[in-house]
Amino acid sequence: MGDSPVDFPGQNATDFWGLRPLLIRDLTRSTVLPCADYGVSSFLPLSANTFKPLDRLNKSVARCVTGAFRTAALAALEKEAAMLPAQLRIERDAMNTVAYYLFLPSSHPIRPLLRNAIAVAPKSPKNASILHYVERIPGTRWPPSVPTRGQRLRKRKVPRTVGAEESPAMDFDETLGMEPIVPVYAAPWATPLPVTTIILPKEDALRALEVAMGDERRRDATWFTDGSLLEGCAGGAAVRVEGGVEKECIEVPLGDGQVCEGEMEGLFCATTKALRDKCHCVLCVADSQAALRGILSTKPRSGQFRAIRYDQLIRNAMLTTPHLTILNLWTPAHIGTDGNELADAAAKAATKCDPNPDNYVSLTSVCRHIHVSSLAEWDTRWKTVKTGKALRYLDRTPPSLIPSPLYSSSSLSRKASSWISQLRTGFTYLNADRYKSGFVDSPSCEACGALYETRAHYLLECPVWEPHRQPLHAACRDIGHFGPLHLSPLLTHPKLLTPVGKFIDATELFARPRPPPDSTL
Ligand SMILES: [Zn+2]
Repeated sequence: MGDSPVDFPGQNATDFWGLRPLLIRDLTRSTVLPCADYGVSSFLPLSANTFKPLDRLNKSVARCVTGAFRTAALAALEKEAAMLPAQLRIERDAMNTVAYYLFLPSSHPIRPLLRNAIAVAPKSPKNASILHYVERIPGTRWPPSVPTRGQRLRKRKVPRTVGAEESPAMDFDETLGMEPIVPVYAAPWATPLPVTTIILPKEDALRALEVAMGDERRRDATWFTDGSLLEGCAGGAAVRVEGGVEKECIEVPLGDGQVCEGEMEGLFCATTKALRDKCHCVLCVADSQAALRGILSTKPRSGQFRAIRYDQLIRNAMLTTPHLTILNLWTPAHIGTDGNELADAAAKAATKCDPNPDNYVSLTSVCRHIHVSSLAEWDTRWKTVKTGKALRYLDRTPPSLIPSPLYSSSSLSRKASSWISQLRTGFTYLNADRYKSGFVDSPSCEACGALYETRAHYLLECPVWEPHRQPLHAACRDIGHFGPLHLSPLLTHPKLLTPVGKFIDATELFARPRPPPDSTL
């Protein structure tokens, strides 16, 4: 073992001792994988075989997290440890990087290269580079005048095809509809806006709302705003309320966006309308603290353009209305405040409308799309890969980056989680598995003499262990599984993990000094 961080996983855990599985996973994700991945994306696109060394590292890390044997399939181990396969990880990071390039200022030296990557597809797929991953970024607005998606990163020997609408001379939007993000907008010494944002604890916030609503100066400029996300569509709304009655309502459909964007749009629209109505004292009530803070922050980040528009709106209004005051008040959501409920209903209605096609595509949405598409690709691979059948038989859930309770539970010992993991991935200390690897001469059960000591025989059938199965039956009844025991719930249900761990411990089959089926572990 050298001192390289890549050796880290093997030094700090085995299936019996070491750090907790989740801690190993987090440590490797933050220290080992970045070292291993460093610079790989510069050589993209790469063939699947090129990722073999990173696959080996993924396997070693996944084995330390799960405590499974080396003979277990890589695909199964990656799903168990909730680790994205190496190729998908590198490609996801590359797409995120290129998405960040899309909003750089047009004077940045990488912009002409990126523009070229969008405008021209390489003649040979060999000449593609990481910038060509721009065509894989989901959620962006792809211009019709450039080669269609899939023409840059093609398989070898696939010729380039020219689309009907493709016209090299035509100008196109090289940001692909992405929101602009500027490095510096306002000087640090710029005068602050005449906006007071009040965020108080729940009880005080309600009292403050009562006082603010009672102020006669704000009678005709009291707006409630809200954002909503329903079935993947976001929307914002602003409702002007006078004497508890809705007077005006503005709905902003955002289509593919986030709740916070809807909240910020609501605030922006309410302020715009109030200033157009020549109001000097404006009250905006919102139930999102993030939106109230975000609308005032012009720092470079996703959603910055809304804060800039808000800033420009108010500074322009100040030229004609120097004594303008705006009060943005936070109020807790869903506690029956009339205006808030009206705004909530309007925002929900806004999610159903068609968004303005000129709305910017937000960076947050694009990053979420990239994440979702990587998971979908992982799921397709997991369903079609030939290995990992033992796990696929038990666990039909799609792979995810959220670790299973088997590795995150604090009540389960390291030993028990390794045993269950071995049973799940299909390579265990049981004779049927050890026979396959040539460690024993017979696959039969030493306890009862049955022909094959498989995980089903051990957990469900072997008569010798029947007395230890009573707690398993009781735990199954507790979660609503009556009748005979089944493998799938026993090895997947979070509430059955501890009883199964105790069963294995009681049978002492895995703790015996039997040589493991894989002596190199
Ligand atoms: Zn038996």
